Amino acid sequence: MNQLEPVDTLVIGSGPGGYVAALRSAQLGMKTAVVERGQIGGVCTHVGCIPSKALIAEAHRYNLHKQWNSAVASASFEDAQAFKQAVVNKQSGGVNYLLKTAGVTILEGEASLIDDHTVTIKRPGTDQQVSFTCAILATGSRPIELQALPFGGRILSSTEALSLSQIPASLVIIGGGYIGVELGQMYAKFGTKVTILEGGGQVLPGFEVDLAAPVIRQLNSDGITVITGATAVKAEQDADSLTLHYLKNQEQHFVKAEYALVTVGRKANTDGSLGLDRIGLQVSSKGLIETDEQCRTSIPHIFAIGDITKGPALAHKASYEAKVAVEAIAGEPSAVDYKAIPLVVFSEPELASVGLSETECKAKAIPVVIGKSSFSINGRSLALKATDGFVKIIADQASGIVLGAQIVGVEASTLISELALAIELGATAEDLALTIHPHPTLGEVIMEAAENAVRKIMRNVT
Ligand code: FAD
Repeated sequence: MNQLEPVDTLVIGSGPGGYVAALRSAQLGMKTAVVERGQIGGVCTHVGCIPSKALIAEAHRYNLHKQWNSAVASASFEDAQAFKQAVVNKQSGGVNYLLKTAGVTILEGEASLIDDHTVTIKRPGTDQQVSFTCAILATGSRPIELQALPFGGRILSSTEALSLSQIPASLVIIGGGYIGVELGQMYAKFGTKVTILEGGGQVLPGFEVDLAAPVIRQLNSDGITVITGATAVKAEQDADSLTLHYLKNQEQHFVKAEYALVTVGRKANTDGSLGLDRIGLQVSSKGLIETDEQCRTSIPHIFAIGDITKGPALAHKASYEAKVAVEAIAGEPSAVDYKAIPLVVFSEPELASVGLSETECKAKAIPVVIGKSSFSINGRSLALKATDGFVKIIADQASGIVLGAQIVGVEASTLISELALAIELGATAEDLALTIHPHPTLGEVIMEAAENAVRKIMRNVT
């Protein structure tokens, strides 16, 4: 066992939670090490956000070229995969570079907590041991495996689905959440016959019906079959296909496909050899670690961030918590404020939400006005041939303060940041309406939705 020099901050996991924490800790002058058992950058960089968005962008370009009968349309899926890998390599190389230049020690191997101030790091060759003053747990999550459909062979998790070497002729997706919809649309654009099975009444179950509707219309026009109220029960695999059996309305049905992709959620990496039990750290029934507003666990010098804590499993939530945790370690009074965490689905059209939804306001009995405006007559949307969708702004009826916003439409992923900032700053609908937006841009739809809300506030209608 190789005994390393003690560190001030030890970070376990180098995803968007861990690497941001390590970087911030080193920038604040603390001696910092990060332990990673896989690849620097974590799920987000290697098998999540970055590769999925690279392939989605390639699928869009492929589709456009196909519409123009361009020769590029015949370029192979291998090229798309090579492009994706180049993006991933660039991103993870960037993270590595940032960590090294900030003076963070990168320890390769699997960390196990021995006690609340020591970890051992298992790796090929000699194991290492390091002691720390404070630790930040950022071990992330992995795909949930269904007992009836164990991963392997033709049953894929999102990780394998992002690395297929050829476009599958057909794909059945179990789970119509954002990952299922994004990957389903991506493969459909490359020509795969896609079926999505969703247990609930609607794909993208977290979104209100009016917001999901434009995406569902596009899924239909992409040729994707969506079957709701369906529960997958078993699969039979043979040499070149798979038969997936599912229940709908208490009747058994089946669908044949080349592969099945199971995207039914993610499980926190708080089990196994990490050793939380050895330091007496409890996890919830979902495997999540309880933290306070500074991301501190029940052991005051140990913090937990990202997918292993409650709240949406999103990269930017992990990075945000990373900064709060490190600043808390440095003795600053930082605390999390989750009122404006944007959530984006990179579907076509894109879907984005921040703050409260109309449904949440109703449930909390908050009197609100809803300002809405459509992309259908926006000059920029017309030029982009992307007119489906709208912006919805939810403002407090009495004060006009923006409480939430949702966008379904082209570039919703980029546009939502203006509304996140509005919520952060406590801006009113009038502030948004009176902000001069450049013409012709998609942002004008936000301004018009805000104007709509202001008119309703003035007329005292909801
Ligand atoms: P992770 O990124 O999971 O990183 C944890 C790291 O810890 C891993 O590298 C792991 O190897 C390491 N580790 C675990 N245990 C140990 C140990 N004992 N010792 C050493 N190392 C360990 N989010 C978005 O915000 N936007 C998106 O568009 C988006 N798209 C996604 C698409 C897909 C297909 C998937 C699967 C996820 C997507 N996500 C997206 C979610 C996002 O990837 C996660 O929320 C994010 O990666 C969580 O960050 P994290 O730092 O908590 O953990």
